[in-house]
Amino acid sequence: VIELGTPSRSVVTTCAYCGVGCSFKAELNGDELVRMVPWKHGKANRGHSCVKGRFAWGYAHHQDRILNPMIRDSIDQPWREVSWDEALGFAAARLKGIQEKHGRRSLGVITSSRCTNEETFLVQKLARAVFLNNNTDTCARVCHSPTGYGLGQTFGTSAGTQDFDSVEHTDVVIVMGANPTDAHPVFGSRLKKRLREGAKLIVIDPRRIDLVKSSHVEAAHHLPLKPGTNVAVITAMAHVIVTEGLADEAFIRDRCDWNEYAEYAEFVADPRHSPEATEALTGVPAEALRAAARTFATGGNGAIYYGLGVTEHSQGSTTVMGIANLAMLTGNIGRPGVGVNPLRGQNNVQGSCDMGSFPHELPGYRHVKNADVREVFERAWGVEIDPEPGLRIPNMLDAAVDGTFKGLYVQGEDILQSDPDTRHVAAGLAAMECVIVHDLFLNETANYAHVFLPGSTFLEKDGTFTNAERRINMVREVMKPLNGYADWEVTQALANAMGANWTYSHPREIMAEIAATTPSFAGVTYDLITEKGSVQWPCNEAHPEGTPLMHVDEFMRGKGRFIVTEYVATDEKTGPRFPLLLTTGRILSQYNVGAQTRRTDNNVWHDEDMLEIHPHDAEQRGVKDGDWVKLASRSGETALRARITERVSPGVVYTTFHHPDTQANVVTTDYSDWATNCPEYKVTAVQVMPSNGP
Ligand code: SF4
Repeated sequence: VIELGTPSRSVVTTCAYCGVGCSFKAELNGDELVRMVPWKHGKANRGHSCVKGRFAWGYAHHQDRILNPMIRDSIDQPWREVSWDEALGFAAARLKGIQEKHGRRSLGVITSSRCTNEETFLVQKLARAVFLNNNTDTCARVCHSPTGYGLGQTFGTSAGTQDFDSVEHTDVVIVMGANPTDAHPVFGSRLKKRLREGAKLIVIDPRRIDLVKSSHVEAAHHLPLKPGTNVAVITAMAHVIVTEGLADEAFIRDRCDWNEYAEYAEFVADPRHSPEATEALTGVPAEALRAAARTFATGGNGAIYYGLGVTEHSQGSTTVMGIANLAMLTGNIGRPGVGVNPLRGQNNVQGSCDMGSFPHELPGYRHVKNADVREVFERAWGVEIDPEPGLRIPNMLDAAVDGTFKGLYVQGEDILQSDPDTRHVAAGLAAMECVIVHDLFLNETANYAHVFLPGSTFLEKDGTFTNAERRINMVREVMKPLNGYADWEVTQALANAMGANWTYSHPREIMAEIAATTPSFAGVTYDLITEKGSVQWPCNEAHPEGTPLMHVDEFMRGKGRFIVTEYVATDEKTGPRFPLLLTTGRILSQYNVGAQTRRTDNNVWHDEDMLEIHPHDAEQRGVKDGDWVKLASRSGETALRARITERVSPGVVYTTFHHPDTQANVVTTDYSDWATNCPEYKVTAVQVMPSNGP
C-alpha cells in the first residue's frame, strides 16, 4: 500500500496521450502532484482511464529533461548551455540570415499534435506571419492526413462524424486498421461494453487483434486481409451491397449526388470487384467477405471506426473515401449509432489539423489560395499571406538535400525516429543551416540541431486539446513550467526576437484570435468550455452549444459525394529476397516513440519492441520464440527478438515502434499516400533471419 496522503487541492485537466481525450483530476499535496484520478464528469471518459493517462505522467520530473536552452555552431560541436535571451537571439539571427540570403521560402516549421491548440496556432502563425511562407506541416502528415483529404472530399470536412456516446446506439461496428483496446483503451472499453450488449463486430485487419476474440467479446467476422489491399476489400463489400440490392437508395436520393452514386454503383458492381474475383488478391475468403457485407448492410445502425491501418498506405486517402462511400451506401450518417470515426492517435492531432498546420490550409481547413480567407488573416496579423501552398515534411527534407531549404523549427516532434526512411531524414536535417528543436528531451532529431529550446509538459500550461470526436477540452496548469516558460511563450519570444510584436499574456487571448478568424470556432471561449465541461466544434452562431453529431440534415459540403475508388497495388513488392510483409502498431502501456512512457514505470510492462512472426514462417527460418532476428528490407535493417504467434497470418510480421534501439523505421520505405504523402508504414517487404543480436 502506498500512502499518498490527503490531497490539498486538485486541478481538472486532460490526458496528453491518445485522441480519446480523457479528463483527469490532478491531485496535489501542496505543489507536489501525487496522483491522476479519472474525472467522472469528463464527457469523453465518464470516469474511466487507462494505464497511460493514470500512471504515465512521471516523465515530467525525469532526470533526462532538459531545462536550460542550448546552442552550438555546428552539429559536430558539443552543446553549450546559455540563457533564454542568448538562445533566442542566436536562433533569430540564424533564421533571419537564412531568410535574407536564401529567400523567405527557405524556412519552415513542424507543429506538434502533442501541444495545445493555442501553441499550434502560434507555430503556424510563425511560419505565415514571420517567415512569410506556408512551410508549415505537422506530425498528422504521417498519420491522419488521408483522413483530412478523404473526408473533406466526400463529406466536406476533415473530422469524425460522431461523439463517443454514439457507440451506445450502434448495432453493427466495423473496426478497420485500428486496435482500440491497446491504442484507444477507454473507447475500446466502451466498444466492448456495447458488443457485450449484443452489437455485432466486423474486424478488418491483417492481425488477430484482441477484439477478434477475447474472454468477453468475439467478432462476428474477421477479415484478415493482406497488408495493402484495403481498397479492394472495401470495394468488394460495396459490390455485395449494390449487387444484392442492399443499398439504402432512399438515403442516397435524399442526401447524396445521385449521378455520382450511379457512376460509383456501376463501378463497384463490375464482376472484377466481386469477393470471389478479389479473394486471391486480398487473402480474404469470399464467403467471409460476403457475410460481413450483408451483416453491415442489414444489421441496423452501422458505425465504422478506423485507424492508421487505413491511412498509412499508398492508397490511404482512397480507403478513407471508400469507407465514406460505404457509410453513405448504407445510409449510416447523421444520427446516433452510425457514422465514420477516425480514431486519432495523438491527444491533439485533430486540433493540430484544425489550427492550420498543413501547408495548403489556413486554420479551419480553408485553402491558402482563397483570397477572401487570406484577407481575414492579413487584417488580423498585418502581413501579406503567401498565396502559394508551402512544403510538406518530406518535401522540406528533399529541398534541404537539394540545397533550397535551410532552416527548421520543430516543436514537440521527433521526426528522425517517427518519420519513414531514417537515413533520408538524417540527410535532410544534416544539410540545413539552422535546426531548432523545442522539446522535453534531447531526442534523436536533436542530434542534428543547432538550438535546443526546453519544452513544457501538459502539466505546466493552460490551453486546450481537441480529441477524436472534435471535443475541445481544457488543459490547466498543474505546476509552474520547470524550464520557466510554457511552449506558447517560447514561440512568442522567438517570433519577437525576429522582429514581430506579439503580446499575448495568456492562451485565452490566443483562443480569442482563433475564434475571431475561424468560423467553426467562432463561439469557443474558455468560459464556455469551463461552463459546459467541453465543447465540440463547430461551435458558432448556428451551433452555440457545439455539435455532437455532424451531417445530420445535410453534409457540410451539401450533397454527399460518392467517389470511384480504383484499387492500385503499392509499388512495395515482396519477392525472393524480401518475401514477408511487415506491418506496425502500438501496445497498451507504451505510446508512439515512447519519449514519455519509456521514462515512467509503464516500462515494466513492455521494455522492448518484438517481432511477431507466424509459427510456419519461424520454423522455415529456424527461429525460436525469444530468439534475436535480423529484420531487413530494401531500406535498411535492424535487430529485435522474435515472438512466435498466430496473431499474425503466414507471410505477415508485425512490430511496435516504441523503443529507439529498435529503430523500426530504418526498414520502412519512402512510398506514401498519393494525395497527402502520408508514409506507407503498414506495408514493407522484409526478410527475417536468425541473428546474434544488435
Ligand atoms: Fe484516455 Fe487515451 Fe489517456 Fe488512456 S491514453 S487515459 S484512453 S486519453
